[in-house]
Amino acid sequence: MPTYEYHCDACGADFELFQQITASPIKKCPQCGKRRVRRLIGAGAGIIFKGSGFYHTDYRSESYHKAAEKEKSAAKPKPAKDSTKPKTDSTKPTDKK
Ligand SMILES: [Zn+2]
Repeated sequence: MPTYEYHCDACGADFELFQQITASPIKKCPQCGKRRVRRLIGAGAGIIFKGSGFYHTDYRSESYHKAAEKEKSAAKPKPAKDSTKPKTDSTKPTDKK
């Protein structure tokens, strides 16, 4: 999991947040509470892979996207496309004792 850098435009605070790749960026500043926080990503900095073998310069490379896909699929397992459910509703026993 990468660490993201955030900057608050309201109070000027810089901070890091340890987040899943698939997590949404936060908006609220933990320092002043205003929703003026932006994630410093795409500016060449702002993503640091700690202890995962990645370098921050790789964050737009193919390996990054593959890692992102991997995390995404790990976090949210896809439901099976083909429905294996029987269409009949009479599978449940309805007799009560
Ligand atoms: Zn702030």
